[in-house]
Amino acid sequence: MHFHLVTLFPEVCRAYTDASILGRAQKSEKGKGAKVSGQQISVSYYNPREYSEDKNHKVDERPYGGGPGMVMQALPVLKAAEAAIRDKDRRKVKVLIMSPRGTVFDQTYAKKLAKKYTDLVLISGRYEGIDSRVKKILRAEEVSVGDYVLTGGELPALTILDAVARQVPGVLGTFESLEDERVSSGEMYTRPEILEYKSKRYKVPKVLLGGNHKEIEAWRSKEQKA
Ligand code: SAH
Repeated sequence: MHFHLVTLFPEVCRAYTDASILGRAQKSEKGKGAKVSGQQISVSYYNPREYSEDKNHKVDERPYGGGPGMVMQALPVLKAAEAAIRDKDRRKVKVLIMSPRGTVFDQTYAKKLAKKYTDLVLISGRYEGIDSRVKKILRAEEVSVGDYVLTGGELPALTILDAVARQVPGVLGTFESLEDERVSSGEMYTRPEILEYKSKRYKVPKVLLGGNHKEIEAWRSKEQKA
């Protein structure tokens, strides 16, 4: 899976994508406990500022019809996105524009994206958003990560990248993949058995210490429903 991030702030995103599991998945050596060896994902960056024809690399303008704030101009974003999808089979490419008005992203959507496409272009807006003609021209879909408004599309784009990358075979180690079969893991405990904090003692639930897997599973499913 190839991820293409169109963003005015690539350095903000790179700090996240280069760390931990996502960083490992971009390298070609075999991951610890991974089922599939080699590089499983790639992440490329395209900064609209570099595609601006303005001598000061300006990418925003005031909105037609008035209103507060600035709008990202279509051309620099289009050119950045075109650089990402040049020479690609468009049937295997999905272009998503981050927007609080878009389809709400969830795990089902993440799985579908991982299955259907080889390339995901994630376009992050800033200011009041992106000129609406970009959506039309690129036949893109608007996606929201939730019912709140952020200052930019970078966190939403990284959220989507992260959730989709976990669905790519080999990105997670074997154990982590098993964990992913469940919706979520519920309460978790690790050492020490008794945590002493500010003169209070906090214990791990007894059932988890006993090694009776049937009882543990029963406790976990009960605890998850609670
Ligand atoms: N006034 C604008 C808000 C712009 S927020 C509006 O009503 O649409 C600036 C940018 O942040 C957006 O272009 C979008 O890319 C991103 N963004 C903010 N909240 C988001 C959310 N919940 N989901 C996805 N993207 C979001």
